[in-house]
Amino acid sequence: MLLTDRQAAAFRRRLVDDLRERGIADERVLAAIGRVPRHRFMPDTGLHRQAYDDVALPIGEGQTISQPYTVARMTELLDIREGERVLEVGTGSGYQAAVLAELGARVFSIERHAALLQKTRPILKALGYDPVVRTQVGDGTYGWPGYAPFDAIIVTAGGPEVPAELRDQLRDPVDGQPDARLLIPVGPPKRQVLHRITKTGPDAFADERFDGVVFVPLVRGA
Ligand code: SAH
Repeated sequence: MLLTDRQAAAFRRRLVDDLRERGIADERVLAAIGRVPRHRFMPDTGLHRQAYDDVALPIGEGQTISQPYTVARMTELLDIREGERVLEVGTGSGYQAAVLAELGARVFSIERHAALLQKTRPILKALGYDPVVRTQVGDGTYGWPGYAPFDAIIVTAGGPEVPAELRDQLRDPVDGQPDARLLIPVGPPKRQVLHRITKTGPDAFADERFDGVVFVPLVRGA
């Protein structure tokens, strides 16, 4: 069943209340989630009714759109400022990229499945996120050297280690600005931990650990 805009808006308000209750405290993040029509990022209209439930749902090619809580939590941990340049590895549906764009980021997003991007690009365009969100087919574990360095990097797939190339594409510290940070799920399949790696000096990094998460695999060199 298709959702009307009115129904979708009501579902979104409920989702935002839910996320707030579950501990998402950054009102800017909640407002961004409240603005992005998550159902529009799901190719299977039969799933639209579930779009605002807190679950990951299939988007094709064996991949998923991350659950709203995870998107909210990761976005909160990234603490995006207006005008920041953000690299996303794993465009998937484009939903996370849209949430980042709503926070005022310029988003550079890489997806290894060309077939997924073929579906996602027109959606981003139709919703007005082009050219704020720029996408590219490729292996994002090598970053996007042409647009580096970045203020923030978010990896929305999980792997056993932190690719050095991504760390190296964080910008150096600048007075009066938050340090550049990389948010990445690290660990074995089905059991990763969110790491936030902050670049505190030209060759210095801090590594903090947060929630346990389950992401689809971050595929390298395939
Ligand atoms: N951020 C997405 C989540 C998609 S799931 C969303 O909001 O919908 C993770 C995605 O990462 C999948 O589409 C998968 O194909 C992609 N992926 C996995 N390894 C990758 C790599 N090395 N480079 C780019 N994308 C990758």
